[in-house]
Amino acid sequence: MAILMEGRVAADRLRDLLKKEVASLTAKHKRRPELRCVTIGCNAAASVYLKSQARVAQELGIGHAIVDLPEEIRSDALFAEIARLNADPSVTGIMIQCPLPAGISLEAAVSSILPAKDAEGLHPENLGRIILGEGRITPCTAQACMELLHYYQIPLRGKDAVVVGHSSIVGKPLSLLLLKEFATTTVCHIATSEARRLEDNIRRAEVLIVAVGKPRLIKGEWIRPGAVVIDVGINKCEDILVGDVEFETAGKKASHITPVPGGVGPLTVMLLMRNVCELFKESLKTEP
Ligand code: NAD
Repeated sequence: MAILMEGRVAADRLRDLLKKEVASLTAKHKRRPELRCVTIGCNAAASVYLKSQARVAQELGIGHAIVDLPEEIRSDALFAEIARLNADPSVTGIMIQCPLPAGISLEAAVSSILPAKDAEGLHPENLGRIILGEGRITPCTAQACMELLHYYQIPLRGKDAVVVGHSSIVGKPLSLLLLKEFATTTVCHIATSEARRLEDNIRRAEVLIVAVGKPRLIKGEWIRPGAVVIDVGINKCEDILVGDVEFETAGKKASHITPVPGGVGPLTVMLLMRNVCELFKESLKTEP
């Protein structure tokens, strides 16, 4: 059976580092980093995530508050609220919790956050910096995959890396982060499956990262022997959570594999907090 790549273990190390850094910054500057999470008509799944976010922020000494807006809010009122948070010097980072009501575009909402307060690294300016290889504030889930690869000391240079899923929050930024480390990177998506080329691509992957959202889409028998498999997908299936990869069969062929849940998930929230800490340090440089 493959080695389990556990996000919690990697997250614990990051937690200790961040806790020390936040404590020293807070002591030196007499104020702490502050995250504001904007929610619109918060649903049950989002509220579970927000509770765990608040708990982690508290452990690290980062301020955390939810700005809950009514479900019937119009885009202009949302933008006004974000402008207020942008202008508030006590706010370090802002994030917008999905899902948003129909009629409000996530891209437009995220673009209205100042890049210097963009806690999730989803503002076009921060995403663009990843292309230049100089992104410091990167999307948390994509970065969580990289942290796992680093923590488990997986070599990337010259390796065949295959990313399945090309969303702006996971697949696309992740492919650029892999390229930065000189992996030979292929990105597959729905059209790869339509063209019946998904299996061939998976079979040659030395590093495989899947972020689709379809239970057990990737068959265990497709996995290249010794491959490293990171499964980002979270799907509710007959009351249990499963990933996008057939875990049991894939685990017999891979050298490393993430469990679902317990893989990238626990790291994602820690990386959100690291982004807030980075934004705080950056903001100190421009203070009088
Ligand atoms: P998305 O819906 O924005 O994108 C899905 C991607 O999968 C698209 O690129 C699409 O082309 C591709 N796709 C769909 N069907 C396919 C198929 N049959 N074959 C190949 N590609 C196919 O999804 P997302 O927001 O990137 O999220 C993907 C998954 O990751 C979801 O399960 C989500 O819950 C999970 N997720 C987990 C975390 C975490 O912290 N663990 C964070 C974000 C997302």
